[in-house]
Amino acid sequence: MRLDNLTFKGGIHVKDQKEFTKDKSVEKAIEPSIVKIPLHQHVGAPCKALVKKGDTVKVGQKIGDSEATLTVPVHSSISGEVIGIEKLYTPDGYKVDCVVIESDGLNEVDESVKPKGKLESLTGEEILAISREAGIAGLGGAAFPLHSKFTTSLEAGIDTIILNGSECEPYLTSDHRVMLESPEKVIYGLEVMMKYFGLNSGYIAVEDNKNDAIASLKESLKGNDSIHVASLITKFPQGESYRLVDAVIGRKVPQGGRTKDVKSFVTNVCTSAALAEAILDGKPLYERVVTVTGNGLKEPKNLMVKIGTSIGDLIAQCGGFKGTPGKIIAGGPMTGFTQFTLDTPITKGVTGIIVLTEEEAAPVKTSPCIKCGKCVEACPAYLLPLTISAYSLKDMYDEAESYNALACIECGSCSYICPAKRPLTESIAHAKREITAQRKKS
Ligand code: SF4
Ligand code: SF4
Repeated sequence: MRLDNLTFKGGIHVKDQKEFTKDKSVEKAIEPSIVKIPLHQHVGAPCKALVKKGDTVKVGQKIGDSEATLTVPVHSSISGEVIGIEKLYTPDGYKVDCVVIESDGLNEVDESVKPKGKLESLTGEEILAISREAGIAGLGGAAFPLHSKFTTSLEAGIDTIILNGSECEPYLTSDHRVMLESPEKVIYGLEVMMKYFGLNSGYIAVEDNKNDAIASLKESLKGNDSIHVASLITKFPQGESYRLVDAVIGRKVPQGGRTKDVKSFVTNVCTSAALAEAILDGKPLYERVVTVTGNGLKEPKNLMVKIGTSIGDLIAQCGGFKGTPGKIIAGGPMTGFTQFTLDTPITKGVTGIIVLTEEEAAPVKTSPCIKCGKCVEACPAYLLPLTISAYSLKDMYDEAESYNALACIECGSCSYICPAKRPLTESIAHAKREITAQRKKS
């Protein structure tokens, strides 16, 4: 089977802007004096606080949980005193309860943080329980609880695991650095998944603008014939799971379907490394690598950040703004979220913080569609963005639905490529919300 130059139909080539941080090793972020840890930073039900004002907590201690099936607990990232529960916006724009903890500067680790035993002796049920208790949710940005994805994928009888190391969004290099600096953790996490699903092989898929990471993984896999590194042509949105499955094993996820429908399981390389740490060290997900970057920042870096640290603290550690910032984005520039305050805390799903200059963030002038077809060519979901967008802008949502608006993955490729700078992604996303709301009412 071919394992290089893999790709999918559609997509766009964007300037990757990774030169700011791709060669910068992961540094520990400065220890925060206060963290504000959201009780809802994953897909699914929010957690209820297990601590109250005045309680003391340790690093890795569980501070929030829920009895719901689709959820994961949250843990303290520092040791110190709980000084309150505060409502704050998360980077993706939800206002949620956050546990506010003041550091005692000791970073005392909770007794529960200890190795969970050898992989050979762990059962599938134990792997599932470790993943849940460690609070692992997808670190690629989606923050979907890993144990829930394990359960539904096992029921679906998956036969292929693909670790997603494509990191196709411009600017971001957190996955890149983890693959380069900790390949053994990425590989160990994949071996845990292979054991859970009873499979004897798996793939790690990486875009070919990260050849040093590909080499690092291959070096660590010498003598291991069960894990294959697949090299992908650098193209956006290669990291979107349906496109990834198509590129690596040639299976097409049906519209409205899931990767499990084509017997595939996809998760991010950093999620795999987090699973490895949960088993080897008993470490819950209370910190992650975040790329803090962009032309509007003095000194871009890859930082290991405690969950609950404010965006402002990270910007200060990167030397502060270079000039007046034009826009601050959490996540990638194509699919991330614009921030309106520096007080927002880092959550499990935040891959990067990007600071754009005023010039880069200046509003664009739109003009009428010239019917060039570039958006159709670029759409990885095989849609007609110009048509769906036109219906959406006229509030004709039934018509937008008949053109499969709901299959849009909001990747932003159509807007990026459009010479008339039409608001394609935004209008299609709006149509999706309206269609979903109408369906709920009927
Ligand atoms: S229509 Fe949706 S899926 Fe297609 S390119 Fe635009 S944003 Fe991406
Ligand atoms: S890319 Fe823009 S101008 Fe070209 S067909 Fe699509 S909407 Fe029209």
